[in-house]
Amino acid sequence: MPVWFIGHGSPMNAIDDNAFTQSLKGMRASCPSPKAILCISAHWMTEGSWVTAMENPKTIHDFYGFPQKLFEVQYPAPGSPEIADLVSKISSDPRVHKDHEMWGLDHGTWSVLRHIFPEAEIPVLQLSLHMEKPPSYHFRLGEMLKPLRDQGILIVGSGNIVHNLHVIKWGPNPEPYDWAIEFDQWAKEKLEERDFNAFITDCRQTEAGKKSIPTFEHYFPLLYALGASDEKDRLHFEFEEIHNASISMRTFSFRPAP
Ligand code: ZN
Repeated sequence: MPVWFIGHGSPMNAIDDNAFTQSLKGMRASCPSPKAILCISAHWMTEGSWVTAMENPKTIHDFYGFPQKLFEVQYPAPGSPEIADLVSKISSDPRVHKDHEMWGLDHGTWSVLRHIFPEAEIPVLQLSLHMEKPPSYHFRLGEMLKPLRDQGILIVGSGNIVHNLHVIKWGPNPEPYDWAIEFDQWAKEKLEERDFNAFITDCRQTEAGKKSIPTFEHYFPLLYALGASDEKDRLHFEFEEIHNASISMRTFSFRPAP
């Protein structure tokens, strides 16, 4: 299976039809049918690492101030206690705990999956972000997920490489900040070079990096995707744009070599 990183941006992308959501729809064609999808979303922050293990995860509307029709969206994909069990056994240190009631599917997951897998028939699980841990922890856990790809599990990181809500601009096509362009380009180059250590150790070394990652929750899902990738994979950029001046929508896949 491939590994994806999706820059999800505004929750409105769940119901909008735009160039980004069109590119999501296109990703389906490059992927064999997964047995299950394991999504690492920016929006599930926990102490410890957790995987959803319920039969029927609920659709969580974890945002405020958006139109009612966004709150009416349901993504009724089943869960899979069996695959949660598999995920919980990838590592004894750190432990991945099974969650039976705390979470479900948040908008980091369903706002994008409903474009790619609209039938919602494939089991979907989420893996949480242990927020007390440094970038290296998340990359390492991503590496431990890699063998799941051979078992038909699609690993999807859903966050944003540049994500600064403090200086966000609304309105049609605002000019991106220079620092947002700079950091997004830096990330693109490091991805092409497979210099993943740079993402772990250097991401906040520059002013551009500090402004692009004011908090880590939208950045950490990227590290899982990098960790789960293989050096034989081919990197494919699916979408690259900066929305709202301060959010990189950069979306890419690591596709297995044919
Ligand atoms: Zn988000």
